Amino acid sequence: MAKILPVFLPFASCGNKCIFCDQQAISGVKAENNLISLAENQIKTWLSYGLSYDELAYYGGNFAAVKRQERESLYRLAYDNGFKKIRFSTRPDTINSETLSEIKDYNISLVELGIQSLDNNVLEANGRPYTNVQAEKAVDDILNITDCGVQLMAGMYKQSLYSCIDDAALLAKKNIKTARIYPTQVLKNTALYGLYLSGEYKGTDLADMILAAGGMYAHFTAEQVQVIRMGLPEDAAESGQIAAGAHHKSFGDIVKTFIMLLYMDMGGKVRYSGFKKTGRKIFSKNYEIYPDIKEDDFKDICIEIRRNYLEDSKRFIKGQAASFASRLKDAANN
Ligand code: SF4
Repeated sequence: MAKILPVFLPFASCGNKCIFCDQQAISGVKAENNLISLAENQIKTWLSYGLSYDELAYYGGNFAAVKRQERESLYRLAYDNGFKKIRFSTRPDTINSETLSEIKDYNISLVELGIQSLDNNVLEANGRPYTNVQAEKAVDDILNITDCGVQLMAGMYKQSLYSCIDDAALLAKKNIKTARIYPTQVLKNTALYGLYLSGEYKGTDLADMILAAGGMYAHFTAEQVQVIRMGLPEDAAESGQIAAGAHHKSFGDIVKTFIMLLYMDMGGKVRYSGFKKTGRKIFSKNYEIYPDIKEDDFKDICIEIRRNYLEDSKRFIKGQAASFASRLKDAANN
């Protein structure tokens, strides 16, 4: 896997206030007006550790809305530091003819879109300034030029569990390269925290998030979309800014164990080293006699899971899968 040096530019040219967002809290990087020096300092720090990288990524804020001159300086900064490849993340509504031609001219290797949801009511309720049509068009336009990655959330304000699974199903079919799945957290310095305190928003439950992320993961993996992150990084949890929401330091591992439980429920036999005890308790006969599951095997397993469980995502969130998610939640909390 390519080694990527991450440069965070919190709230850069964002001009928005999505109700769940506090990028300073989750990245640990303080927002600054001078993006060039902010990037320079981070690159210098990372390179001082003596590691080598294949690529530089600009994350955070809304990169494609940064002033053109500044964007070009940021590209030059990466090239001057020896990087041959650059990727960035941005909001779907900033993909237009100018940014598309720049993606081509600067040979941007991948653009990650913070889509979060494809439900227009959810987008509006959470302060996202674009529609599902714009988001899908942005994906298609990027794919005509370079690789595309997506970020989706689960458990947003006014979002149903099945709608995030359906969003992943739709995007997985688009030949995108990477996906990140984030269960919603209530961060203290956000409007969502106010909704939480008033009781209007309840916060996410770990079992629900295992279920939703499991369905999303299965759709992506079945289509060979690489799921590069599930859950916020541990740094975010340590910031002390998470007031509520499903967070577990091994969230990704729990979701993969959930996938294994579904597979064993279909008669699959595994020796997967995730939350072993739970798997063994439920399916002792199918456990440990067989070779370890490798990362590559997940694709075929997820194709089977999609066929057996995910034809109807509303049914998926109520059936046997929900009981596995709930047992994993208990195991994770003990
Ligand atoms: S999620 Fe992105 S667009 Fe929304 S407030 Fe945060 S930085 Fe701005």
